[in-house]
Formats: sequence, C-alpha cells, structure tokens
Amino acid sequence: MKVLVINSGSSSIKYQLVDPATAEVAASGVVQRIGEEVEPDVVTVEHSCGDRTFEYRGSIADHAAGLHVVFDLFTAAGQDLAHADLGAVGHRVVHGGEVFYQPTVIDDTVVKAIEDLSALAPLHNPPNVIGIESARALLPDVPQVAVFDTAFFHQLPAAAKTYAIDAEVAAAHGIRKYGFHGTSHDYVSGQAAEFLGRERADLNQIVLHLGNGASASAIRAGRAVDTTMGLTPLEGLVMGTRSGDLDPGIIFHLIRTAGMDVDDVDALLNRHSGIKGISGVNDFRELGQLIETGHPTAKLAFDVYIHRLRRYIGAYLIELGRVDAITFTAGVGENDARVRAEALAGLERYGIRVDADRNAERSRVARRISADDSEIAVLVVPTNEELAIARASAELVG
Ligand code: ADP
Repeated sequence: MKVLVINSGSSSIKYQLVDPATAEVAASGVVQRIGEEVEPDVVTVEHSCGDRTFEYRGSIADHAAGLHVVFDLFTAAGQDLAHADLGAVGHRVVHGGEVFYQPTVIDDTVVKAIEDLSALAPLHNPPNVIGIESARALLPDVPQVAVFDTAFFHQLPAAAKTYAIDAEVAAAHGIRKYGFHGTSHDYVSGQAAEFLGRERADLNQIVLHLGNGASASAIRAGRAVDTTMGLTPLEGLVMGTRSGDLDPGIIFHLIRTAGMDVDDVDALLNRHSGIKGISGVNDFRELGQLIETGHPTAKLAFDVYIHRLRRYIGAYLIELGRVDAITFTAGVGENDARVRAEALAGLERYGIRVDADRNAERSRVARRISADDSEIAVLVVPTNEELAIARASAELVG
C-alpha cells in the first residue's frame, strides 16, 4: 500500500508517494508559483520518479490546477494514481487548535473545523484546506487523513502552555502555546531512541529542529513537556526569516512611532527578520560564505542565532533535570557542523562533549557526534515528516 503525502502551502504544493512499510519513495515533486503569471517556458512543476524527472512549464492558476498537472505527470511516468495501490492521501495540516490532537480521517465536518481554525493560522490553514479539497475532488474514493503539526504538543503541561495574560481573554481567543513541527519532533525523538537501542519511555530528550523554520522541544519519557514555538510559529528560536522571541513592546512601538500597521509588522517579523533581517540572507550556506568574506553583519546574525539556541538548550536542560540525548535535525541541524559545535561548546560540565571529527563527518543517516565519554548522547537524525505522515495515515485507515 502507498500513501500520497501532500503539503499544501500558500503558493506551493510539495508531495510524495511513499510506501509506509518500506519508506520507499515511489515519486516526489513540488508545484511552485501557484497563482502567478509566469512565462510559458518557466518550470512550475518538477516531478521525480526514480532517476527520471518530468517537468511542467507555464502558469498554474490555482491549487486544483496544480494537482491536476501532478496527476497527469504521475500518469506520464507510468504511475496512474487511479490504479496505484493508493491506500490514503495524508495531508500535513499546520494548526489543529484544541480540536485535533491525533491523525484524523477527513470528512466535510473536519474540513470545516480546520477552516474554522484559520484565525489561529491565517497563513497556513487556508492553503491546507484548499489542498485537501482539491485532492478530495480528484481522488473521491481514497480516504484522506489530516496530520497536525501541533498534535505532539497537545498535552504540554499547563505551566508550559499558559501565557501569563488575562485568563478570560486567553480562554476567549484560544491563546496558549500550541507548538509546531510536532510531526518532526515526534519522529526524530523516536528515531533517536531507536538509534540508541532504548525505549522512548526511558529517555529524556532535547530535539533541535533547525530548518528554515526552527524549533526546540523538551521531551520527557516520550512526551513533549515544552517547545519554543507558541500560538503561532513565530515564537522561540531565531529562524531564516522569522524573529523568534522578542519584547512584545517592540510591536506597539513600531505601530505608534514607525507608521506601520498590523500587516506591516506581521510581514516584518515573519518574512524580513531572523537571519535574513540581520544579514540580508536566510540560507545558512550563503551566511557561511558571507562570514568568510568578512561581511559586516553576517557573523552577528550567526551569533544571535547561536545565543538564542543556547538559551533554550540551557532552559531545557534545567527543565528536564536529566537529559539522555540532544538531537539535531532539519536542513541546518543535519548539515551545518559549525552551528552544532557552537550550540554545545563549553558544556562539558553539564555532560555534553561533542567530538569534533564525528561532528565534521557528512552523512545522510542517523549518527552520534558526541564523544564516547559524553554523558549526554548528541545525535544528528535526518527528519522525514512525509514518512511520518504516511505511516500515521496508513495506520489510521488500517
Ligand atoms: P524547511 O523549514 O523549509 O523545511 P529545511 O529543513 O529543508 O527547511 O532547511 C532549509 C535550510 O537548511 C536552508 O535554508 C539552509 O539554511 C539550510 N541548509 C540546507 N543545506 C545546508 C548545508 N549543506 N549547510 C548548511 N545549511 C544548509
């Protein structure tokens, strides 16, 4: 049985056809620049199938049109989805609010509820819903499953999830820490336990998901007890283009004195801040090159990023009391040895000793980068949210 995993964003759709039992990816691709007028020769859909690639060029009017093209490319590649052994379509849904905390089979009521949560995730849930509706129309006989990015953090302890604001206002508007990247934190902490040959229930872990978006989590005996992202994915660590934590007073100050309105501040903090805001680039490969050339603010951006990351590692070490493993994952965490080294430098007295040679090694599989005498195991574990969504979907539909 295979699962088609769909991650539908505001102007893109990423997808993968994966076998949940073997993790084998039969095909994958991305639809980009949805809703944009592009020249007829611009590639907007790239579809890979084994070592073959198929492309579509030209404008893609909307998500439904994008999925149509994808289905045609599957057919062109000899994998007609109508006849593929397709057990489910698994959708990544960003915000499950208080309503959804486990993978859920999608029907009209579920779609409506996900739509209703859009107030909490205006950038994410609406395109998720469009992706779901389009896939349901194209594959009406295949069960569709929603897997929520917030689910793993549903049971955060009250002290961790409660914001210290007027309780009635918080209750009336659903204001609490929800946390995101939950599918990744869940998957990676499971893989880390497997790598260590231990039960998840016996381990306390810190997972550092460092991609374009970034979040950390503290996990006690398999259960998340804290995470850096909050009501929205803006809180916490410094990210590619997002500020992470800041004094909320900055928002009032900008609105009162800089002539910005709410949308301006939203765009500033979500799209023009973080590493990019300080240095001008959001990709760590480019940031590394700029640092080499002595760029005036690139090193500062790196230092601010590391400072915030270490602050949370310290917080979670104290929160958990005993930590067995610290695991790096996602684009930056899996690839940037310097980030890993600096994040954990000088923490020997806390039982953390990174081995420089192990850390410098490049690999695509789970590995240990701590020295043998490091009390806390430091690991690098590639995340695979698509596989996690495929497995959750397959399990649910039986
Ligand atoms: P997303 O949050 O979009 O899923 P990823 O987890 O794929 O992001 O991470 C993307 C980021 O990973 C890039 O913006 C880049 O900063 C970083 N990255 C990818 N490859 C490397 C590399 N070889 N070295 C350093 N950073 C990398």
